[in-house]
Amino acid sequence: MVWLGHNLRNRPLLAQHAELRGAPVLVSLADAFARPTYMERFFSGCVRAALGMTGPLMIDCGAFSWLSQALSARRSIDALLKVYANSTADFLVSLDCPPRPDDTRSTRALLRRRTLSHLKRLAEFVPAQQLLPVVHGHSVREILEYCECVERICGNVPQIAIGGLVPLMCSGSAFAAFSYIRTDGARGDRSHWVGDSISLVRGCFPDSLIHVFGVGSATTAIAVLALGANSVDSMSWRRAANYGAILLPGRSERFPTARADRKPSRPVVSPTDVSLIAACLCPVCKSAAKAEKRLRLLAECYTNRAIHNAWTVLSEVAKLRAALSAGEAETFVQSRLLKTHRLYKPVMERLRLAAT
Ligand SMILES: [Zn+2]
Repeated sequence: MVWLGHNLRNRPLLAQHAELRGAPVLVSLADAFARPTYMERFFSGCVRAALGMTGPLMIDCGAFSWLSQALSARRSIDALLKVYANSTADFLVSLDCPPRPDDTRSTRALLRRRTLSHLKRLAEFVPAQQLLPVVHGHSVREILEYCECVERICGNVPQIAIGGLVPLMCSGSAFAAFSYIRTDGARGDRSHWVGDSISLVRGCFPDSLIHVFGVGSATTAIAVLALGANSVDSMSWRRAANYGAILLPGRSERFPTARADRKPSRPVVSPTDVSLIAACLCPVCKSAAKAEKRLRLLAECYTNRAIHNAWTVLSEVAKLRAALSAGEAETFVQSRLLKTHRLYKPVMERLRLAAT
């Protein structure tokens, strides 16, 4: 499952299409900090109704915003409880304090204590079915200890999330040289860490849904799901649309048409990509018969691109699920992930192991 990161400013974006109204969406309280009127408008009643959506809803507390507002921990939690107390959202993300891979041991311990104390308070008021605890770590031991603490506070949680992976996922990250000792004693790198952290959390909570935060691109979302996560979230549909780009199955981001006044930061749709546009069943592409017209629609409007991209992310994840059920995941992933993708090797290793 993929949760589409939804910006409150573009509220009607998905809701205006019946085919997308039931999509799982993730909204952040950080948006309400940027515009305080949003707090009353969206978070005082039923957020789902305010968005015009009908499907699963997750509310992220926007941890970085809370912390950067320099609110005291007490005030932060009180404000969060006010929103969470009567929320009908499916998942309410606990207020976490993610460590960076280069934080000192004492800083990491301090951040963990804070995260767990927030979780403890939230667990007293938020039903277990809704509360989404978040674990962090950059070693096997850290993840296992975090899971033990969560279990002590919340018991056998129905769902749990892994956070703090963003700095490791980013290409060109300052943490490209990150390494750790795997459970078999071998040294692992950041490519292994994503799959290993999912496996470690799975070992502690075998029946819980595992969400992985901040995976980035639609392709990486497929890789992380193939590595065993039950759900991920992605902003790529909006981010790419914002840059004027579209998502296509098995391709990197593309510009729909050539434009002389634009930096050539992405390739333009090529003749071999046109069949993918022609086959697209999104509400925007379906409104035009010819691929040329579809590309024009996508080129001229952010909303059209965002709708097409959201549809593409959702349908790609649905295709992965179908491939996993049919025992064809290896072939599917090979058609979507380049061999140079950071997660290609760990994903193929996992799928081959699962097939034996
Ligand atoms: Zn489309």
